[in-house]
Formats: sequence, C-alpha cells, structure tokens
Amino acid sequence: MSYEKKNKALFIDRDGTINHDCPYCRDPSQITLYEDTINLMREYKRKGYLVVIVTNQSGINRGYFSVEELEKFHDELKDRLLKHGVPIDAIYYCPHRPEEKCSCRKPEPGLILNAAADLNIDLAESVVVGDRDDIDGELARRLNIPYTIVDHRS
Ligand SMILES: [Mg+2]
Repeated sequence: MSYEKKNKALFIDRDGTINHDCPYCRDPSQITLYEDTINLMREYKRKGYLVVIVTNQSGINRGYFSVEELEKFHDELKDRLLKHGVPIDAIYYCPHRPEEKCSCRKPEPGLILNAAADLNIDLAESVVVGDRDDIDGELARRLNIPYTIVDHRS
C-alpha cells in the first residue's frame, strides 16, 4: 500500500484567463498574456501547486485548426510562461463540439478528472481559476473545488 502524498493543483483556463481571448486562434503570434494571471500562477507554483491548463478547443472538431497547430500554439504558450517563471505541468484540452455531448467539454468535469488520475492530484486541495462563471465556475462547483473568476473585460 502506498502512502505517497498526493499533489495539489491549480486548474486554470486558457483563453480570456492566461491569454487574451481571440476566437479559435491558432497562430502563436496572437498570444498576449495577462500580467495579473502570470503573477497568480507564479504564486501558486511557489506554494507547491501543479499548474494544469484546462481548455475547451472545439476548433479542432469544427475543422478550424489541427491538433498539430494546437500543440504548436501550446508549445509557444509554455515557452512564454516559462520565461515569466511559470513552468506548466500539463495542458488538457477538449476537442469536441457541444453537439457531441462529451464528458470533457467544460463545465463537464472530464478534463480535471483525467488530470487528477494521471498526475495523482487531490481535488480537495486544488483550486480552479477562469474567466467565465458559467463555464469555469460551474466546473468548479460540480467538483466542489474553490474557484476564482478573473475579470479581464473591464
Ligand atoms: Mg476562458
């Protein structure tokens, strides 16, 4: 039997939370980071949290961009965040369209449940940060995880 201590995680949304939202954007040159979110992520890293990005990317199954393009975008995003002192531990994305009724399109909890299983994360010790109460807030409420909604619209 293992008594290994579980990890705690910051589950954080991508578009509108870490980078300026550009609908279905796939071009890494379009990445513009929010300073306040970088600071918040750095603070969680310092406190020993894993930082896991959880993002809906239905542009994949809508045919707007490929998995390869998404991965390139994420490589650039991770590079940029690393330069700001924030190494990302993992990125989980949902490629499905709403009509597909999958179990991972936020606010469905699939992305977080998969990450928790893969990375030995204790959800009771974890937090969610996003920019949409109806998506990220609802996701957190369904899993009974504390959450913060960032406001980048004002
Ligand atoms: Mg968002």
